[in-house]
Amino acid sequence: MEYYIVDTSLTDEYDWDFEPTQRGVRLYLPQVYCPHCRKTYTGDFTAPLPEPIPPAIRRFIRALEQRPREPLSFVTVSPQEFRAIEQRVRVAYGFPPERRIVPGTDLGPLYLLRQRFEPHWQVYKGYNLFFTGKARQAVEQLNPSNLLWFPVWRTRTRHWDIWQLVVVEQKRLPAIEGGQWVQCPECGGWSIDAPYDVPIRFAVPEVGMEFSDFLCLEGLGLVVSERVVEVLAGLGHGSVRGLRFVPVSEVERRKVPPPSEEELRRIEQAFEKEMEEARRLIMPPPFE
Ligand SMILES: [Zn+2]
Repeated sequence: MEYYIVDTSLTDEYDWDFEPTQRGVRLYLPQVYCPHCRKTYTGDFTAPLPEPIPPAIRRFIRALEQRPREPLSFVTVSPQEFRAIEQRVRVAYGFPPERRIVPGTDLGPLYLLRQRFEPHWQVYKGYNLFFTGKARQAVEQLNPSNLLWFPVWRTRTRHWDIWQLVVVEQKRLPAIEGGQWVQCPECGGWSIDAPYDVPIRFAVPEVGMEFSDFLCLEGLGLVVSERVVEVLAGLGHGSVRGLRFVPVSEVERRKVPPPSEEELRRIEQAFEKEMEEARRLIMPPPFE
């Protein structure tokens, strides 16, 4: 069976009329910075935590947020500390081992506080992945075994027929050609070791995959079977927004060399210029 990656780089398809949010104070798990591989981990749209927040976790996260940090920035912890936090969250929520608990995730159910909402899409990738009832029904005809659906609320007791998707599945390593997987000893994160500018190709691992329609793969993110792509195509033209499906066999990545000092300076200068332009547009001219 052919598999497809869910490419979510289509930012021009952003639906500005659709902005579900946490009610009250926004709480989220801390993000993680690994000093060894210098990676920052924050969020994964397939692994939100929309369940009601257990009071003990609410208190714990509030206490974490008291730590000194830059204004408006995330609380950041080490990989080791996050492993302890993950364990605490897993126990408090009663999650099975296959449920992913990722750094930077928002906590709690989502609300859409407006009088009326008419989705013109059936599937939409915003901050998370959303399905209308019709799209959910279409997918459920395939009997997927590892999906959870959470409603987007409109009042305390009523919700929209819009569902936030959680894929219950630990990440797996796809087979690769053109490089090899290496694991960071500190955070356990995977990266690809490959010569610069050599095409790296991916293949969905065969073992135990026969009936999986939704997979989470390292380096590729959410991957779905062609059955899912067909079912969603059946919802009609324009029903799927903010994402597109690309066959895994066509995905090609390249490791590019880091920019030189000179290139870095050029990037910085271009950024400064853009910021200056933006400031000029935002600030009114001085009174003369
Ligand atoms: Zn690391």
